[in-house]
Amino acid sequence: MFENDTICGVATGLGKSAIGMIRVSGPSAISICDGIFVGKKKLSEMGTFTAAYGKVVDGDKAIDEAIMLVMKAPHTYTTEDTVEIDLHGGSYVVRRVMQLLIERGVRPAEPGEFTKRAFLGGRIDMVEAEAVMDVINAETERSLDTSVKQLSGKLSKEIRELREIILHNTAYIESALDDPENYSLDGFSEELSKELTQVKQRIERLLSTADEGRIIREGISTAIVGRPNVGKSSLLNQLLGEERAIVTEIEGTTRDTLEEYVDIGGVLLKLIDTAGIRNTEDVVEKIGVDKAREVIETADLVLLLVDGATGLEQEDRDIINNLGGKRVIALINKSDISTDAENEARAQEIRSLLAGIGIEDITIVMTSAKTGQGLDELKSQIRDMFYSDKIDYNNQIYITRARHRAGLITALEGLERVQDSIDQNMGEDFLTIDLMAAYAALGEIIGETLEDDLADKIFSDFCMGK
Ligand code: GDP
Repeated sequence: MFENDTICGVATGLGKSAIGMIRVSGPSAISICDGIFVGKKKLSEMGTFTAAYGKVVDGDKAIDEAIMLVMKAPHTYTTEDTVEIDLHGGSYVVRRVMQLLIERGVRPAEPGEFTKRAFLGGRIDMVEAEAVMDVINAETERSLDTSVKQLSGKLSKEIRELREIILHNTAYIESALDDPENYSLDGFSEELSKELTQVKQRIERLLSTADEGRIIREGISTAIVGRPNVGKSSLLNQLLGEERAIVTEIEGTTRDTLEEYVDIGGVLLKLIDTAGIRNTEDVVEKIGVDKAREVIETADLVLLLVDGATGLEQEDRDIINNLGGKRVIALINKSDISTDAENEARAQEIRSLLAGIGIEDITIVMTSAKTGQGLDELKSQIRDMFYSDKIDYNNQIYITRARHRAGLITALEGLERVQDSIDQNMGEDFLTIDLMAAYAALGEIIGETLEDDLADKIFSDFCMGK
């Protein structure tokens, strides 16, 4: 499994910075760095976690002053010998030293390869490795928070506990089958059934966070809908403001559909936009009910705009009729030019229309996409909707990856088969197959395979052959 070459990577940004740091990891890290370094001591003679000041040299030619930090296997991030080279910032020097290392046989690291080595070296499990990637990629504070939690191993710990229960029961069955004099299976099925119910509930709880987890990582997919001229593009521009983050084109969908991300105080919104919405000239042609329907379908949250000043028209009603089953916030826009009485009348009408399609719990905000009035209220409503009311954010572990979700589902299915077998009074040896399938599926989430777990367990817990 272990890779034997030595890799290097620039650990700091490549722009101008005070310090540029290159990390070198692998079996030859120390000897190769010794070859390009002149200091008081040889790096190979230094203790682990000690630093030396000196010069990086290419033959006789000094390139830059440097501090070399030597860290010896196995107590390093990658578990391999590692040298960190601190240079003066500036991309030229950093590149030059990278080049020098490469000439001496060090390979430039693939993205994430240091972390991959940490995983292969057994220092972190798969969930933690993925969390490191997420920390690096985190778009907002909240998603950072979740990644940090996974990094600290909360999800891994939960998975390990569940596996432990499954393994214990499997080992007990195996022991009892081998050694019926000492281990009785009387009443075991009922006990197992009870424990499985709890394990299944815990898996289901994890699964129920999968949607929120996705939302935290990818943003709340948000559609802004309304008939032409209600102020959709104005709202979009207000929301994007200076906070505009990333613009990506979605492959395979209409060419003119864009996703734009905006961070509203720690919650990432993925605004589903169509080029037409932003071009006021084309609005009438492009944005009709059909377009709205298409966008609504993929949205986690719909911002329904109506014009407070002119009131609702048939087209508004048509759009509203497509909102069934969605989380909706209604915005009575242009409230800067509509009266309170008008706003109240619009709110009433929206409430009754939405109630007509089964949406009772409706949030209505008065906004002006022109003056920005009401937008803070809107943002705080969105935050509340997703974090404080619906979910207890701070104590929950979130499932943020499809791979984890798939593993949990497979495990759950396995356990359901075990329950079926119990219900049909199948023999205990039969149960172990599905128990182990569930165990393996959970193990895949944290990157652990079956190995000798069961044998170890049987020997350690049940003292076979005593
Ligand atoms: P869209 O067709 O829904 O995208 O609407 P636009 O954002 O293009 O807005 C249509 C017109 O309404 C533009 O002239 C905007 O300046 C104006 N508008 C949008 N929002 C407001 C608002 O809150 N108050 C006022 N007074 N005008 C607005």
